[in-house]
Amino acid sequence: MLKCVSCKREVTDNYIKFKCPNCGREIIRCHNCREIAARYTCPECGLEGP
Ligand SMILES: [Zn+2]
Ligand SMILES: [Zn+2]
Repeated sequence: MLKCVSCKREVTDNYIKFKCPNCGREIIRCHNCREIAARYTCPECGLEGP
C-alpha cells in the first residue's frame, strides 16, 4: 500500500514518486498535496522539503 507522506492518505494513481535528495528513500505524494505544495518529511532521515 502506498501512502502520501504529507497527508498519510492512501494513494492509488495520480501521485508522484521521487527520491529523497538526502538518503534516496522513495517518497510518495498525492496529487492534492503536490498542488497545494504541502511540505514533506522523509520517513527515513527526517528531511523536510517543499
Ligand atoms: Zn497527500
Ligand atoms: Zn531521506
